[in-house]
Formats: sequence, C-alpha cells, structure tokens
Amino acid sequence: MSPPSVIEQHPSLTPTTPVALSYELFPPRTPRAAESLWTTIKELETTSPDYVSVTYGASGSNKGTAIELISRLQSETTLRPLAHLTCVGNTPHELALVIGELLDIGVRGILALRGDKPKDAQPSPAGALRYAQDLIDLIRRVEQRRSALLCAGKVAVGVAAYPSRHPESPSEEHDIEVLLAKQRSGADFAITQVFFHADQYAGLLHRARRAGVTIPIIPGVMPMTSVRRLNRLGELSGVAPSAHLMDQLASASGEAEQVRIGIQATVDLANAALDAGAPGIHLYTFNEHRHALDVLDRLDLPRPNRAAVRPAPELVS
Ligand code: FAD
Repeated sequence: MSPPSVIEQHPSLTPTTPVALSYELFPPRTPRAAESLWTTIKELETTSPDYVSVTYGASGSNKGTAIELISRLQSETTLRPLAHLTCVGNTPHELALVIGELLDIGVRGILALRGDKPKDAQPSPAGALRYAQDLIDLIRRVEQRRSALLCAGKVAVGVAAYPSRHPESPSEEHDIEVLLAKQRSGADFAITQVFFHADQYAGLLHRARRAGVTIPIIPGVMPMTSVRRLNRLGELSGVAPSAHLMDQLASASGEAEQVRIGIQATVDLANAALDAGAPGIHLYTFNEHRHALDVLDRLDLPRPNRAAVRPAPELVS
C-alpha cells in the first residue's frame, strides 16, 4: 500500500476546511428556456457558489450560445464561470481560437473534455484532437503564449473523472491511468460523472490516490427526483441508477412524495461522498434551481464566510 499523499497529510485539510460548491448549467436552446434559465441563475447566485460550469456541445455544436451565456455570466452576475470545452472532431487551430476567445472575455477556468463521439460520426479532419489530455496540452500552450496578459497567472483546468468505468474504457484501472495522465498534462482538478452509489465515489478516490492522483476530485451530484431523467442519464453515461431508488420513486404516491424521496436520496449520497473525503459538491442543475437548492439546504456544508444573500430555507418536509 502506498503512503498517504501529500494532499491527505496537508495540515490545512482539517474537517473545517470550506467545502467547494458549484453548479452545472447548459446553454439555453430557445428564448423561453433562456428566460427561465436566468431566473435559475439569479436564485443560484444567492448561494455564492465558487463557480458555475457551462456545458459545451460535442464538436462545438452550440459554441455561440455557450460563449454568449458565459459572457453574460461574466458581465451581469457575480458568478465565476467554468467553461466546458470539448475537443472531439476539432483541430488544434479551431480550438486555440475558442480558448483565446474564452480568455479574452475573462474566463479563467476551463473543463477540458473530449466530448461524446457524434453518432453519425463524420471522419475527423486531419490533426483533430483525440483525447481530453491533448486539449489540456493545447490550453497550456495558449496560456503560455498569453502569459503576459494573464499576469503570469494560471488558467484552472478541470477534467472529467469516472466513479464507474467509462463506457469505452477497458477497466476502471485504465480510467485511473487516464486521469493520472491528465494530471501530468496539467489538470488542476476533476469533476466526476454522475454516480448513484456512495461506494462508487469512495472507490474512485481510493484508486486515484493509490495511483498518485493528488488533484481534488469533486463529486458531480444530480438531484435524483425524476425517474425519466435518471433513466436518460443512465443511458447517456452508461451508469445504472439504483434499482431500489427507482422502485421507491416509481411507487411514490405523487410528485411531492417523489421529490421528497429523491431529495433525501441525493442528500444521503452527497453526505456519503463528503464523508469519503470529497472537497466539494458539484450540483447538476439541469437549468432548474428548485431541487438543487432543496439539496443544498439540507446539506450542512462548511462554506466560506461570504455575505449571506439567501433567505432562510423552506425545507421539503
Ligand atoms: P477522455 O479523457 O479523452 O477519455 C475518453 C475515452 O478515451 C475514455 O474511454 C478513456 O479511457 C480513453 N482514453 C483517454 N486517453 C487515452 C489515451 N491516451 N490512450 C487510450 N485511451 C485513452 N460532454 C460534452 O459533450 N459536453 C460537455 O459539456 C460535457 N461535460 C461533462 C462534464 C463532466 C463533469 C463529465 C464527467 C462529463 C462531461 N461530458 C461532456 C461527457 C464527456 O465528454 C464524455 O464522458 C466523453 O465520453 C469522455 O470525455 P473525457 O473528457 O473523459 O475524455
């Protein structure tokens, strides 16, 4: 067994260290969706998260709306955006332009992803990047060229991590090797894919630390209140939702009961991840604030002492 990592032994990592809080949003597809998203953004802003992440379509399919949303977050809110960026099917030149554009509008955090391969896969252009690791290298090169503009500061680069095997990967061990490679290329932190069992996150953390991964691995947690959404996410991510929870949700007496069960299960999962050593919680909001905030209100997160702008919670009973 390997000795504990420097991070585990670090004296500042006491139980009172603040826990990071962040949310995931996706760019709206219609003006109506944009209107409701902005209500959500204003509600989330009251909780003073550390950052909000904005998804990016594979192959840059929604580049315009993603950059527009990030730009508005920068200029119209107090929120700090973390821009997702996918590299699949794109050349270094195309991606370097997008990275430059993001840095120009003030973005200082990028989640470097490969992106899901498009189903009707066209052959990639010559030189297109293949893996998230290639994108980290590219971000670091663009950053270096703009070092003076960044006052020699760093862009925070995040990556994806997988509590259960990535669908295309031969094994969980391979996933850890990939995560370690991404760390070596300059990843600063990781956010996990959704998971539905506490031991999946704890197992990932254990395997990663044993292999020498020292970056923070933040659990991505979705409010598990909708059977339809859990099934859809299960299909997309290849991660099967808990059969027990699905039974409970399906046999709930009505929507309110379903929400109560789902929120409690999500709070239990997040608390188990925190007990396992999670340095933060990243909430997948699906552009809706109500259930994300219900979860947050029931988590006792030690947060930095920022101005409290959120009114007293009305807990789901
Ligand atoms: P990679 O790390 O490149 O891994 C992809 C596959 O290649 C894995 O099977 C891995 O094992 C393998 N691999 C990687 N490197 C090597 C190597 N050097 N040699 C051999 N095999 C290798 N998708 C979107 O389209 N837009 C988003 O905004 C988005 N946001 C996400 C946010 C989070 C927090 C997470 C967890 C996922 C997100 N995804 C998003 C989904 C993600 O793009 C997919 O899971 C994708 O299939 C893999 O992305 P990756 O960055 O992990 O890829």
